[in-house]
Amino acid sequence: MIPTSFEYKNAGSVADAIGMLGDDGQILGGGQSLIPALKLRLNSPGVLVDISKVDAIKGISDNEKSITVGGGATHASIASNADLDSAAPMLVQAAREIGDIQVRNRGTIGGSIAHADPAADWPAVLLASDANVMIQNKDGKRTVDIDQFFKGFYETALEEGEVITGISIPKSGFNKNSAYAKFKQPASRFAIVGCAAAVDIDGGVVKEARVAMTGVSECAYRVTAVEKALVGKALTAENIEAAVGDVTEGRDVMSDHYASEKYRTHLASVYAKRALKKLL
Ligand SMILES: Cc1cc2nc3c(=O)[nH]c(=O)nc-3n(C[C@H](O)[C@H](O)[C@H](O)COP(=O)(O)OP(=O)(O)OC[C@H]3O[C@@H](n4cnc5c(N)ncnc54)[C@H](O)[C@@H]3O)c2cc1C
Repeated sequence: MIPTSFEYKNAGSVADAIGMLGDDGQILGGGQSLIPALKLRLNSPGVLVDISKVDAIKGISDNEKSITVGGGATHASIASNADLDSAAPMLVQAAREIGDIQVRNRGTIGGSIAHADPAADWPAVLLASDANVMIQNKDGKRTVDIDQFFKGFYETALEEGEVITGISIPKSGFNKNSAYAKFKQPASRFAIVGCAAAVDIDGGVVKEARVAMTGVSECAYRVTAVEKALVGKALTAENIEAAVGDVTEGRDVMSDHYASEKYRTHLASVYAKRALKKLL
């Protein structure tokens, strides 16, 4: 289909972009989710404000205690980043498995979490990494803890007129020892089920664990029961098997033509175990 008509504006900076949005403007990142939505007429903004040439939010910088990934960083730039590969390998693993090369070259991490598709990879990975989302609006800047960011089905803490400028990933023990595993939809490679796991081991036992799922229900979530069950124990295959029960408990599990509710529930536990076993 053909989108409804809109005005196109090219922003030179984030402040520029915020100023250009007006009452019915929408940010255009890599366009990999928004353009299909426009073609289906699910969205019909009056103005599209393109931030894909705002260099200030495209980089990845290694700071003393964290790594800042620009909101406009493409999946491809994350997939090939050596600093992230060493500080938080699950980000690089997830980026390498997103879509195809065209999607990875155009799509951005900021666009993905703003869109909050329930089958997207970044939400689970960023929940497991204890990230902070850096946001700019007309009044200034704010930071949202990732645990407060995803609110529901395509729903986030992002408000009208806001731009995600970056995502801060702590250089923590658990991020250094992290992995992502997903069962992909064979054509799009979206997660039918995906699990991100990050475990800090001290003195032979798990000191801290963060485990998050995507693809399962209305939005990504942490599995705190598994996190708690792992703490204080050695990370062994037997302890992982014992810690991972039904990781969908309390969730409305999605059912579609790729996976029924029953099959997805089964896959969720299988992939939680696979992500954790990658860390052995
Ligand atoms: C064929 C195909 C396969 C795909 N496979 C996968 C996959 O395997 N895994 C996966 O996770 N995803 C997948 N995707 C989605 C892809 O990752 C998109 O890149 C991503 O969801 C959106 O990022 P974008 O930069 O393209 O955002 P856009 O499409 O430009 O925008 C999406 C939404 O985010 C908003 N937005 C964009 N950037 C910002 C920002 N910086 N601040 C605030 N709001 C912003 C826009 O206004 C819009 O509402 C696939 C897409 C396609 C087309």
